[in-house]
This record gives sequence, C-alpha cells and structure tokens, in this order.
Amino acid sequence: MALEPCTEVPNQIKTDIPILKERGQREVFCGLTGIVWLHRKMQDAFFLVVGSRTCAHLVQSAAGVMIFAEPRFGTAILGERDLAGLADANEELDRIVDQLLERRPDIGTLFLVGSCPSEVIKLDLAKASERLNQRFFPKVRILNYSGSGIETTFTQGEDACLGSMVPVLPNSYEEPSLMIVGSLADVVEDQFQRLFEKLGIGPVYFFPPRRASKLPPVGKGTKLLLAQPFLSDTVRSLIARGATLLPSPYPFGIEGTTAWLKTAADAWHIDSSQFEQAIAPSVNRAKIALERYRQTLAGRKAFLFPDSQLEIPLARFLSRECGMELVEVGTPYIDRLLMESEINLLPVGTALSEGQDVEKQLDRCREAKPDITVCGLGLANPLEAEGMATKWSIELVFSPIHGYDQAADLAELFARPLERRRRLTV
Ligand code: SF4
Repeated sequence: MALEPCTEVPNQIKTDIPILKERGQREVFCGLTGIVWLHRKMQDAFFLVVGSRTCAHLVQSAAGVMIFAEPRFGTAILGERDLAGLADANEELDRIVDQLLERRPDIGTLFLVGSCPSEVIKLDLAKASERLNQRFFPKVRILNYSGSGIETTFTQGEDACLGSMVPVLPNSYEEPSLMIVGSLADVVEDQFQRLFEKLGIGPVYFFPPRRASKLPPVGKGTKLLLAQPFLSDTVRSLIARGATLLPSPYPFGIEGTTAWLKTAADAWHIDSSQFEQAIAPSVNRAKIALERYRQTLAGRKAFLFPDSQLEIPLARFLSRECGMELVEVGTPYIDRLLMESEINLLPVGTALSEGQDVEKQLDRCREAKPDITVCGLGLANPLEAEGMATKWSIELVFSPIHGYDQAADLAELFARPLERRRRLTV
C-alpha cells in the first residue's frame, strides 16, 4: 500500500474528542534539561545553572557524555552556607561570573538559569542579570530564566529561555518577515531555508538563532510559524511585540510538514501549483523512505505518556501516516492556541488525556498492553522490565525529526524498539 499524505487541513473543530484531565503524581524532568539541546544550538551562549549538586548531576548526565569540546554550560553550586543564608549568594555569583567570562572570551550571551534551590533561597536572578549587564554589556549580554520545576515539563526550559530573549529582540517595525520559532537541528534549518527560498518566502528568521548575538527582529510585519509545540509563553510575548501567529500543524511527518509549509505559503499568497511543484521532490523521496517503516508500524498499538508536549503531533503522525492505533495520547497540558490544528487531525474517538495521575495511567497502560509505550526515562525502565517496548520521549526532542527528509527517521525511532522487542522474544 502506498502512502498518500493529505495536504488539506480540515478547519472544523473536533468537539467529539473527550479529554481526560488528571491532576495527580507526575513523572517528569525539570526545565534544566533544555540546556542539553539549547547549548548546542546557540554557539556563542553559555548556560550557568545556579543550583545544587543535584542540578549539576542532572545536566551533566543528560549532556555530559556527548561533550568533546569545552562545554557551554556549568553550575554555580549553592553550598550549605548559601542555602543557610550565611554567605551572600549574590557576591558569590558575581565572583563566579567574573572568573567564567575572563576564562571564556568566546561567550556572547550568558544565561543565568534558576533552579529549585535558587528559588527556595529567593535569589533574584533578574536583579543579578541587571547588575552584571551594567558591567559586561555590550560585550556580553546577561539574561536569566528559570529551569526549576516540580510542576513544569522539561521542554518548558526552552520556552523560558526563548521567552527571556524576546524583550531584547530588535524591532522590525512593519517589515514583513517569517519567524520560525523553536530550536531545530542545523541540518533541518538548512533544509527548510532552501524550501522557503524555492517557494519565494522571506526574509525568514529562525528563533533561537545559531548565534545568540544575532537576534531576529520582531514587529507588526512578523508572522510566527512554530516548529515546536511547547512555546506557549514565548509565543504570547512575541504576539505582545506585534507579531501574528500562523496556526498550523507541526512539521512532523510528510503530512505535517506539507501543512506547515502550506500555512506559510498561503500567508505569502503563493500559487498552489508553485507550491506543489516546490515540495514534490521532497515529498516523493520521503514517501518512499517512510513506506518501509509503515509496514512495521501499521496496526500496532501506541500509548503515549505525558512528557515532552510533542505527544499530540506525534500521535497524529503515528496514526495518520504510519497506520498505528492510538490507545491513549497523554500530554502535560493542552494550549488550544498552539494545538487546535493538531487536535483536529486526530482520529475521532482518540483517548486524549491532559496532566497525569501516574499510577492510574500505568494501570490503564498495562491493561491495554500496547505494542509501544512512549514515556519518560523514569517509567521506561520498569516497563521494559515488565516486557513492554518503550520509546524515551526525551530522545524525540534531541533527535532531528522535523521535515520531509526526517519523516522516515522519525518512524524508525518507533520501529526500532518494536524490532528489538521482537528479537528478544523469539
Ligand atoms: S532544578 Fe529542581 S528539579 Fe531540576 S535538578 Fe535542580 S533541584 Fe532537581
């Protein structure tokens, strides 16, 4: 069977998808995790976590193994004296920043990243950035955001980081432009840039940029197209600066990428035949590459736990392009402004859940016996031990999965655990 991706986005709202809302025990990482991909994206930025040894271990173990050069992140560890209020944490922080900037002249932007411990002792990092900017700006810009989170999801770290940059973006006034919001792997960014050029759409800016010192302009002529679905606060701040959101499905899979590009093309009044012509080679290549994995995935059952906030677009891809059956699609929270177009594409009757009561959800998952469970690291190992195939949701944020050329790679990320489980059980 050949895959026939749909280029039409239905515009009626599916009111028949009931949403189970749960507020209980959750299993999630905090926003510090975002540093792992953000420090690779912005090559002149440094992320200084102001936190405890636990925070340092989290970031180091998530990113450390992949480091071959001097890292662009570190932790200013709050010791017992800081936590007990016996030392002036601001003085300590200034001393560490002095040392760091003296040793690393390559740093153009320094993010002070708050954590649970810095919030507990009420260390005001906004004031600290203001103070440090007076000394170091314009050579180095100091920004701050919070990565702490018992109540947040790990992708909110990127939202908070980008949000901290919005007030310092230059003003573009009325100049029409497209801003792609959300970090993309450089290779994917280049592919999209080529497609936008082919379509005659531009100027196109990517936010975050590869160099934090080259910030994209924003203003009344800016149209926002989101590459990531977890940027609620950033989008609202950009809208407050005059930009307009182009609501769209996300560029995952062939269908999502086509709908995403079409949203931009429509805003630029690009003729349909020019659009079809520009995307045809990429679509054809992607169809052939994806077909192989579709054969493995079609008819298999998927259960998605709430973790990365990518769950709804991924579920749409798994169901509509890979032929999988969705047992439950859990997501930490649903922002209708950012997710409506995706919810409209889910099959009628999809069990959608928002928030988490982890024990109850685990019971539902065990009972349904899915072929694959997409979840955080904390749940994956126990479920694997029970004989279930799992996919770490965090891997989907680290890997290049956007766009046509990555559609098959995205499907493979789900096909691989199924194949592994099959081999273990024969
Ligand atoms: S910020 Fe909070 S949740 Fe994250 S590692 Fe530090 S202490 Fe743990």
